[in-house]
Amino acid sequence: MEINLVSDTVTKPTPDMLRYMFQAAVGDDVYKQDPTVNALEAKVAALFGMEAAMFFPSGTMANQTAIKLHTQPGEQLIADKWAHVFHYEGGGVSFNSGVSCCLLDGNRGMINADQVAAAINPPAFYHNPLTSLVCVENTTNKGGGACYDINELAKIKNVCSENNLKFHLDGARLWNALVVTKENPKIYGQMFDTISVCLSKGLGAPIGSLLVSDQKTIDRALRIRKILGGGMRQVGYLAAAGIYALDHHVARLADDHRRAKELGALLQSLNWVEQVEPVETNILIFNLRKGLDENQLIQALKERNILISSMGQGKLRIVTHLDYKEVMHDYVRETLQRIGIR
Ligand SMILES: *Cc1c(COP(=O)(O)O)cnc(C)c1O
Repeated sequence: MEINLVSDTVTKPTPDMLRYMFQAAVGDDVYKQDPTVNALEAKVAALFGMEAAMFFPSGTMANQTAIKLHTQPGEQLIADKWAHVFHYEGGGVSFNSGVSCCLLDGNRGMINADQVAAAINPPAFYHNPLTSLVCVENTTNKGGGACYDINELAKIKNVCSENNLKFHLDGARLWNALVVTKENPKIYGQMFDTISVCLSKGLGAPIGSLLVSDQKTIDRALRIRKILGGGMRQVGYLAAAGIYALDHHVARLADDHRRAKELGALLQSLNWVEQVEPVETNILIFNLRKGLDENQLIQALKERNILISSMGQGKLRIVTHLDYKEVMHDYVRETLQRIGIR
């Protein structure tokens, strides 16, 4: 039995999810004639109180489409220095949209309204790239699963409105934030021009993301998705996994959060751990004491069938998810307690 805590993307569809996928009604989604995709899109749009949604093969494509929708070549977006859209999407911001990034030095991947206001280039000063978009991430990925304070997001929204900027939420793990804060997703729907959400992280679907927005914007997104090669045919089988995940795998994210917190508390008590960053959701980041070799820990855990990852700069990462069960959790806690790192 291998226990993979490298990412929440390693989950496999459950037997019930697979059964649900098999019985899906399908059609050609490039013609918008797949009833299951249409149902998933309607379901997610309604959840956020927005007009429309569109199914994408990946979160990267959904984010890149949003950026393309909101910008023209030569313009600039504002994001945190650790933003997924900047760091982990292969340079797509410049490749797809010809846009540059103004990166802010945020707190655990979160930026604030004052920072955004200060980073906006004056529109009349034509020497600068024109600022046209602000992107935030909730929860943050590289920031360790941190959740935004909704009031700060509202302040950033005000700055966007006052300065004629679009506001995009990379909500790959927004489900995790919603489970923690118990906020109504419709608040997010009112605040953002576009929201991307992932089905293939903690929700445990094998594939899929959605972009949510108003009808006009989603109509324009259809062309961009086509250009990026994201038009898919009888994809209702995969959309069905998303519907199943939304119905059965959202509330249980609280278990992932509890387990991550328990691991965090345990690690903090061990003499070879220097620091554990605050654990708010399912991502746990920690440092070893100075002089200790992180590869030694990764290797020692690997020999005991536990996989964790390094983020570089002495940071180690653990991510809990649907396939990380209580028995595994017991074993991981015992193993961490017993292991000696020197
Ligand atoms: C995973 C993730 C995405 C999307 O990634 P894909 O692998 O393309 O689905 C986007 N943003 C964040 C913050 C993520 O963690």
